[in-house]
Amino acid sequence: MGRINLRDLVEECRKADSFLITSHTGPDGDSVGSMLAMRHFLNALGKTDVTCASHDPVPRVYDWLPGAEDIVDADTMRGAYDLVVVLDVAQRDRIGSVGTRLSPDQRILVLDHHREEEPFGTVNFIDHTYASTSEIIVELFEAAGLEISREAADCAYVGLTTDTGSFKYANTDARAHRTAARLLEAGVDVSDISSRIFDVMSLAKSDLLRRVLERMQVSECARYAWSHVTEQDMVEAEAKSEDVDGLVNFVRNLEGIEVGMLFRELGPERVKVSMRSRGKLRASEVLKPFGGGGHAGAAGATLHLGLENGRAAVLGAVEEALGAIYS
Ligand code: 5GP
Ligand code: MN
Repeated sequence: MGRINLRDLVEECRKADSFLITSHTGPDGDSVGSMLAMRHFLNALGKTDVTCASHDPVPRVYDWLPGAEDIVDADTMRGAYDLVVVLDVAQRDRIGSVGTRLSPDQRILVLDHHREEEPFGTVNFIDHTYASTSEIIVELFEAAGLEISREAADCAYVGLTTDTGSFKYANTDARAHRTAARLLEAGVDVSDISSRIFDVMSLAKSDLLRRVLERMQVSECARYAWSHVTEQDMVEAEAKSEDVDGLVNFVRNLEGIEVGMLFRELGPERVKVSMRSRGKLRASEVLKPFGGGGHAGAAGATLHLGLENGRAAVLGAVEEALGAIYS
């Protein structure tokens, strides 16, 4: 599997004429932001045949980003492109229906900042030292000698600020701030973006939050806590998937808690866990045996188990991992 540097990446893009850009299911700020920033980058390179496709619709908090209105679903995409660019994810099964539409010999470029040992691209740029995939796109503009437009800067800034939790998480480094500074110089309005993304909550989300807080439980060792959202909650609250995003942080924020988890029932035999760690436990490592992954501080997995069994399995693994750390 080929690895590539930024300059070769630009060449890879220059060579192609038709592009599909995609990202993971359950899109977040970095997946939407990096897809759209990439689209602006390709347009700046003079490429006009560029399609953005996503398995899931764009969450409402990001739908105002320049270009978001043109992100299509898998049914609308073609079967073949000169180059397919996959962002913020390196596993084929996590791009959902977009992946199943691609022909087996499709040339695929993967750009990601998750730790991934076996990225599925024809060529891969994987670097977990980046706080967000969007920063990689900003560096593409520089590597190509192109000025970053206000539109592209807005998109990249959204990816950067969401993946760093407003520059609060452990992945926030000097490069993240330097990149942010460049984006501000390109015209990003920080307070406008923050108020659109962070300082707003849908009624449905506030309903879910109330349920999550009511049900929060703390372990005997007082190091981890968890809560859950059921399918029925989603119906009663008239909530969408995007309304669950970020609720896990309220569990993690409990004083003294190192690991916070939110279990979301997806079906009778399917449960998604979101895990956040602020201590020594590496969330992505704990969830790897369950087919999940992500980062040390933030990871997720979808288990083919019911809510109760899935929760018991994950809590057991956390108990064991914490036991090994504090024994
Ligand atoms: P969240 O809990 O917000 O869905 O995801 C937290 C982090 O874990 C994100 O970086 C996300 O990409 C990653 N993640 C979530 N679910 C999965 C999964 O099933 N597999 C892998 N490899 N990563 C996941
Ligand atoms: Mn990301």
